[in-house]
Parts: sequence; C-alpha cells; structure tokens
Amino acid sequence: MKGVVFLGNRQAVVKDFPQPEPGFGEVLVRMQATGICGSDLHVYRRGAEHFAGRPDRIPGHEPSGVVEAIGEGVSRVKISDRVCINHYRGCGYCKQCAAGYFQWCHEARGYGGPIDGSHADFVLADERNCVPLSQSVSFADGAFIACAGGTAYSAMRKLDVSGNAIIAIFGLGPVGLSGVLLAKAMGGYVIGVDVINARVELAQRIGADVAINAEKEDALNAIRDIAGSDGCDLAFEASGSSQGRLNAVKCLRRGGKAAFVGIGNNEPVINPTEFIGRELTLMGSFVLPLQQSYDLVNFLERRKLSFAPIVTHRFAITDGEEAYQTADASRTGKVVFTWD
Ligand SMILES: [Zn+2]
Ligand SMILES: [Zn+2]
Repeated sequence: MKGVVFLGNRQAVVKDFPQPEPGFGEVLVRMQATGICGSDLHVYRRGAEHFAGRPDRIPGHEPSGVVEAIGEGVSRVKISDRVCINHYRGCGYCKQCAAGYFQWCHEARGYGGPIDGSHADFVLADERNCVPLSQSVSFADGAFIACAGGTAYSAMRKLDVSGNAIIAIFGLGPVGLSGVLLAKAMGGYVIGVDVINARVELAQRIGADVAINAEKEDALNAIRDIAGSDGCDLAFEASGSSQGRLNAVKCLRRGGKAAFVGIGNNEPVINPTEFIGRELTLMGSFVLPLQQSYDLVNFLERRKLSFAPIVTHRFAITDGEEAYQTADASRTGKVVFTWD
C-alpha cells in the first residue's frame, strides 16, 4: 500500500508499505476519505532531527472507509461495513475507556503518533473504535467526524448552543468552519472571525450570520456592534492565536462561556482578573468521546447536514506531497485524500 511519510522541514514523501494484517480484536479499514488536520501540519513542520533514526510513521487521524478484513475475536464489525474511526486507541478496560474517553486512557495511542495513521490506503483500528456510518453520511463526513468536525461538535455540546445564543467563532480553518455549520444547525446566531479573507468568505458561504476579517476591522468592536455592548453568550476559540484567545474572553457577556480547542501557542495571555468579576466559564475541549462520534453521525443524518462545503481540495494519496503543501499554506478549507 501507499502511505505518506514526513522527512522534516515541511517535506512529505509517498512510500510503499506492506498491507497490515489485523491482529486480535483489530479491523483493517480501506480508506475512502481522510483529511489533513492542523495537528498533522504541526508535525509536518518539525525539523528533520525530529524524524532522524525513527522508523517511518504514517500520519493522519481522520480515517473513514470500508472494512477490508477482520482479525480474530472481532464479532460486531463485518467486512464491507462503512465506518469512521474514533481518534485514539485506548486499553479498552480502564475507567476512561469504559466512558469512551480513549484519549484520556493512560495507554492512549493517537493515529500518526505512536501508531500508523490514515494517510495511506489502509489503516488498522480496534473494533471498538469503528463507528458505523449510515448510507446518507458520506466518507468525507466520516473523516470530519473523526477529528475536525468531531472536535467542533464536542465543544458545541459543552457550550450547549441553542437558538437563544449568539456565538463568536475565532479561527475559520476546518475546525472553526465545522463549528459554524454545527452552531447554525443547533440554532445559534453565528459570528465568524479570521484574518484570511478566503476563510472569512467561506464562513459566509456556509451560513455564518456575520463573518469578520480581523485584519480589516477591529473584531471586538464589530462583535459588540452586532451582539450589543454586553457581548456574546458563547465563544469558540479554534485559532490557537493569542489574539483569538484574548478576544474569545473579551467578547463574552457577563456569565458567558467559551470553549478553547486551538493549540500550537504557549503564550500565557489570559489573566484570571478577566473572568472572575464577569463570572465567565472557560473550558478546554479535546477531540471527542466515542459516544459523541455516534451522536454526530445521527446528527448529520437527521439534520441532512454535511461538512462537504468545507472541503476545498481533494487529492489522491499518491499526491501526498502536493496535498501537504496545499494544506500548509493555511489558506484553504479542508484538504482531503479521497479514493473515488
Ligand atoms: Zn486533528
Ligand atoms: Zn484505557
């Protein structure tokens, strides 16, 4: 099979790998769609020294496809099932795994981290991580459920978005754009903010009530013009930038709530004085528990909703190098590998 490998310093190559064999409790899934995520790009941008002397590791953690083969002990998942794969493999037996929070397991292994990921023709998964996709939910949607869309969904659930809420979304990359789609479907009034015009326009096209280019106007003033001087009920921070994080706090009304998912920046910008007097609730959110993967499949099916409008570029896995260069420019919507 073909799979992508990083060499460091923004270099990706496509190599040949033996097709993996499913072991006990494992399922081999033939990829149909798998996205490039911001966290893949963080690894792609590391220096060559990070990869020197290590075995080739396939990146990618948004797997969606068809079951090709099953290992011994697999009893529920069948060959030819359409599935997306929940993000982390856990031990399966601890308290966190029992609650579906594989990412909290002490033995959690992320795809493209300690184990091979999905930027290849096939990926191995544990049976319990395979979430069935109904016929009306596309493989590309399955890829979104695995990370970008699932991350946004889990944050929206924490924020309890409803028709009563004005929500500001900072960062309109694939996770922020997924937030726009989901918050709209949940009834929220959505204000999107980014500094890249193509992304601001994309947010508008997929249904944001207002989309603000923070390079061209003061985002906080613009938000207060819309939401009133009290501010927004909710904020979703997907940019990971210091400015986005600060604004996500400052834009809130008294008693407002913000969820933070954007990573890649360690600057301490939020001062507790900012949120004590106004009684704000600030939450971190990290991917999604297994049950919410099922919930999101149902949500897309019932709402006849698809993340497809966020996909701006599709590549074959053999064009892995070009796909990564395109995503690395950070001016696109979602970049996806497909096999159709
Ligand atoms: Zn991701
Ligand atoms: Zn566990």
